[in-house]
Amino acid sequence: MEIIEVEAKSILTPQHAGSLSDHYDYSLNPYAGCAFACTYCYVPKFPNKNNRLPKEWGGWLEVKTNAPKLIRKDRAKIFGSSIFFSSATDPYQYAELKYRLTRQCLSEILHYHPAKLTLHTRSHLILQDIELLKKFDRNVLSVGVSFTTNDDTVRKEFEPKAPSVQKRVQLIKALHEAGINVVASIAPLLPCQPEEMVKLLKPYVSKLWVGSINYPEINNKPELLDKYRDFFSPSIQNRVTSFIKQEFSA
Ligand code: SF4
Repeated sequence: MEIIEVEAKSILTPQHAGSLSDHYDYSLNPYAGCAFACTYCYVPKFPNKNNRLPKEWGGWLEVKTNAPKLIRKDRAKIFGSSIFFSSATDPYQYAELKYRLTRQCLSEILHYHPAKLTLHTRSHLILQDIELLKKFDRNVLSVGVSFTTNDDTVRKEFEPKAPSVQKRVQLIKALHEAGINVVASIAPLLPCQPEEMVKLLKPYVSKLWVGSINYPEINNKPELLDKYRDFFSPSIQNRVTSFIKQEFSA
């Protein structure tokens, strides 16, 4: 894994129609690149000028060492705004253990009262910041946890370097028990047992998103799309999506 420390020019990226997080005013990415290396990740579809080639996805990480400082500088933008943290990386990937940029950014943001803050992760490392998260108003902060399958064999195929299904269940439960709003992001919907997904998630999550793989043409393990071609057919995707949504609204 190549780790590159950089000084970013800005850290709050304005969102507009067509942006990755277009329901928010800003996205915030303290890292560029992502060590979790999900095979289906959409980020390589939108490389910025510093990014390496999409085929190297998962092999490099830029660390924006001045991210907390930039937040302080841009604090006027944060008051009353909505922020998606993060749209193009995982803010709690393992580099966070060394750099603590996400923690420092959150500590800054806490002073400047955003109207809405959504953290999005696959990682149990967020639990190390749980006391900090509890300081945000429950109506302001929610945590989206990516939960794409209940089957850890499938998880290993599509998300080889990301935390296990079991760790994510523990994470969702711990956030819920801490009084934090948890949104399950079943996106993309991977091969799974839908009844089991509902059983695992329903007691703990307040909302869920379900979506299919975007940009299959950049999937870096196309053989998996072939192996599970039946599950990825529009009819099965629609059927499973409707089932999960219905069970949650029941
Ligand atoms: S965790 Fe998110 S940003 Fe990282 S590789 Fe997976 S989908 Fe992409």
